[in-house]
Amino acid sequence: MATNRQRYLRQQAELGGDEVYLTAPLPAGEPAVAEAVATEPAPVGSAQPEVPSAAATPARSEPLASGIEKWRKDAPAIPGPGLVVQPPELGLLGDEVWRTDSLDQLASMIHGCQKCRLCEGRTKAVPGEGNPRARLMCVGEGPGATEDQTGRPFVGAAGQLLDQILAAIDCPRDTVFIANIVKCRPPQNRKPLPDEAAACLPYLHRQIALVRPTVLLALGGTAAEWLLGVRKSLGELRNQVHRYGNIPLIVTYHPAALLRNPNWKKPTWDDVRIARQLLDPRSA
Ligand code: SF4
Repeated sequence: MATNRQRYLRQQAELGGDEVYLTAPLPAGEPAVAEAVATEPAPVGSAQPEVPSAAATPARSEPLASGIEKWRKDAPAIPGPGLVVQPPELGLLGDEVWRTDSLDQLASMIHGCQKCRLCEGRTKAVPGEGNPRARLMCVGEGPGATEDQTGRPFVGAAGQLLDQILAAIDCPRDTVFIANIVKCRPPQNRKPLPDEAAACLPYLHRQIALVRPTVLLALGGTAAEWLLGVRKSLGELRNQVHRYGNIPLIVTYHPAALLRNPNWKKPTWDDVRIARQLLDPRSA
């Protein structure tokens, strides 16, 4: 088994620098992929951080300002502008969605939704969760098996990695809001079909309108394509500051993709540090 020092050195090599500091012992059995993007990994299998309900946390969340801000060291410069998309007029989202004035109300609607075939196979719909006044909002593709069972987004292995990524940029999970393009699990975790995504998208648009984040982070190509309304590869959409209305939108890899391909860890670390810089009021 690798010693902590060996793991530490591997982190440095993978990140191409010395921005990662291992300050706590890694638990046995932790996936190596998690080490590349987290400064202080949480033990895998430990309890998920308690995420406040939409009604519980009215204050606008602020990223934690750590004294050192390790993520800032050698962070890439903020890239140039990309696409600009306008959110749909609220009236175009459909009367019911348009009338919702809280995330809880919207979640109730999602739990009973039968607007597409994905409702037939779901155990639980997964509306999304997090700080209702989050400054950072993460958008993924759709629920997986664990999410379908629990009704919570990003709670499987990819979710644990996302938690570590967020912690590494001083935006712990309880400060952000996390949602998906589709709220019900596609069979065999396949990509949502266009009609499914189109049917579900009004919920996401309304969530963004209610949360009013400072920065949007699209996790994976599906989230990027549907938020930006284009059919382009992830490579074409990364490394630009897109705009969803007035909100800067950064595109990066889905955490599940990082579990499959470690080569994407370094670019992801760059992307999330760009997003983190945009949370700084002077950068957005
Ligand atoms: S995926 Fe979205 S549109 Fe389809 S049933 Fe679920 S909540 Fe409704």
